[in-house]
Amino acid sequence: MMVSICLQCPRRCSVDRTRTVGFCGAPWEFTVARAALHPWEEPSISGTRGSGTIFFSGCNLRCVFCQNRNISRELFGKTVDEDALAALMLRLREEGAHNINLVTPTPYAKQLIPVLEKVKPTLGIPVVYNCGGYESVETLRALEGLVDVWLPDFKYFSSDIAARYSAASDYFDVAAMALAEMLRQSGKARFDVDGLILRGTVVRHLVLPGQRNDSIALLKALAERFGTNAFLLSLMSQYTPQFAEKAFPELCRRVTTFEYNAVLDTAHHLGFEGYFQFRASATAAYTPDFHQNTF
Ligand code: SF4
Repeated sequence: MMVSICLQCPRRCSVDRTRTVGFCGAPWEFTVARAALHPWEEPSISGTRGSGTIFFSGCNLRCVFCQNRNISRELFGKTVDEDALAALMLRLREEGAHNINLVTPTPYAKQLIPVLEKVKPTLGIPVVYNCGGYESVETLRALEGLVDVWLPDFKYFSSDIAARYSAASDYFDVAAMALAEMLRQSGKARFDVDGLILRGTVVRHLVLPGQRNDSIALLKALAERFGTNAFLLSLMSQYTPQFAEKAFPELCRRVTTFEYNAVLDTAHHLGFEGYFQFRASATAAYTPDFHQNTF
């Protein structure tokens, strides 16, 4: 077993996860909530057959509006060892997955290294690292060569909002350093003849109710720091209020068309390219049913 004193994300909890848990709530062993083909990612990731998603339980952000609360907070899922996880990846490939999509892998990043080293030479499809963006550069460097597509969220610009919703007042600076490392490793996006992504970085941003100005400030800051051609932007309108904690009443409504369009207009005006959800996408249908587990 690798060293279990956990320093692998910016929380740096320094706990022994074989005995207890840190902020993310995840044990040291892989805990997987779902492994299945998923049709609702960006078109270049889901393609026609689906993305081979493996949802890990636990999360180092624990956002108060989390749409996957039963896996981020309640640790729904089952323990799998390295061999079983490798077998899951190969099974998803056999089922036709266009890629292996590791969802919320951050608490297990270093444990994933031996699995990916074993599987990647014969996998034949890209590995996607689908995370919250609050990542340690040191950990990302340890994954170099094992991840083809970085798929981070970039959630907040304001440290006050990041502190209120994710207890991470340093979110912007940490996520920006992480994004720089992802871009260093991936370079610009590359696609196959069918338009499926082979390599690159796609940055997701979910517009929150009442926070259009933070979204706009974030897009401007990202454009200024990285330009608008270094990564693809995935702007998401799918916020669904029923998952928000009642202690945050400002989050207990949908994003308005005015709010979403203001952010969308900014993204277009700045020159970002990528994926822009329609406003009508604000539905819980994008949230997988983890109780219909298929592994
Ligand atoms: S992965 Fe979890 S336990 Fe480890 S430092 Fe991050 S939040 Fe803490």
